[in-house]
Amino acid sequence: MEPRCVYCLNEGVPFTKEHVIPRAFGTFENNLTLAPEERPTVCGDCNQLFGDTLDLELGRDSLEGLQRFHEKVADPTKIEKYFGSNLQVRLPQDGPYGPVQIRFVEPRPNSSVLGIEPVPQVCFRRRDDTWICYTEDELAEVDPKNDPDLVTEGFKLYYAASDGEEAEERLVDLLATKGITFENRTPIEGLPGDETEITADIESELTGVLSRALAKIAFNYMTWVAYPDDPTFPYKEEFDPVRNFIREGDGRAADFLDVRDEPILTGDGDRIRRANGHLVTLKWQATYPGGVISLVSPFNMITYRVILARHMSGVWRDIQSGYYWNLWSGAAGRLRSERDEIIPPRPYQLP
Ligand SMILES: [Zn+2]
Repeated sequence: MEPRCVYCLNEGVPFTKEHVIPRAFGTFENNLTLAPEERPTVCGDCNQLFGDTLDLELGRDSLEGLQRFHEKVADPTKIEKYFGSNLQVRLPQDGPYGPVQIRFVEPRPNSSVLGIEPVPQVCFRRRDDTWICYTEDELAEVDPKNDPDLVTEGFKLYYAASDGEEAEERLVDLLATKGITFENRTPIEGLPGDETEITADIESELTGVLSRALAKIAFNYMTWVAYPDDPTFPYKEEFDPVRNFIREGDGRAADFLDVRDEPILTGDGDRIRRANGHLVTLKWQATYPGGVISLVSPFNMITYRVILARHMSGVWRDIQSGYYWNLWSGAAGRLRSERDEIIPPRPYQLP
């Protein structure tokens, strides 16, 4: 069989090494790769495309991207390259500052953790004494004077020193266009110092690109598992919808991926996660509705279920397996599972 790319299905193209879990999520002993020598399955074009788009967004503009700093697999001095519009981080409404929107910045001198600073915004008090904050973009879309619960006098402006006074001027001009005057402005308030640990509310959007990046981890793993016993398996036409979703963005993300509450490992609960690392599992569900399903959980944090194929023809094979990338030890290896139990999916044990 002439090697073919599992994503674009092209033959006779140069193959390159694709990491099952993106390299941004750590380096591991016994890491899984689709390498040209043993598994010539991902071409240079697809590899490049994924690295420049899917893997980049997953590594830098997602909850998992933020977790990279916590697990020290990302360099905090490169923070300016991270986080576009997928993450919104606010201080808590009931805290001393109100729901001020913040962004992450380089660690301050003598610190190894990310610093925070406010994005330019204006915060208004509401009649019930809560606060509401609008960034410049948000303020352009609303008219605070139309909100009967909002007290438009005595608002607060927030911006970081690095934004300079232009940010203040822009906010004041923007407010003037809404008929809100400058005179009643209260002094700018600072945010907590670096020594203080604070809680923040994070809102993240699971975009189409992030969904494709997570589905790719599942498809990579399925391809890795298929070799060497059945190297034709990843090319089955039942996989074409997810293949085209990953490669081209065709179809609706919700048809391929959803967020599951249940943890992957035996003994883990909703809030208890014993394994500090990445988990990926795969099974071919033989009985109705059938299908090839993978669970993907970077950092054992959120579990995503990826439907690789809804129906599958051919003779059923037991491909149930799971893999664990351990961030504590830097080693990776197979999970143990109950081989005779296919439905419902059996949680896995750590090796
Ligand atoms: Zn390709």
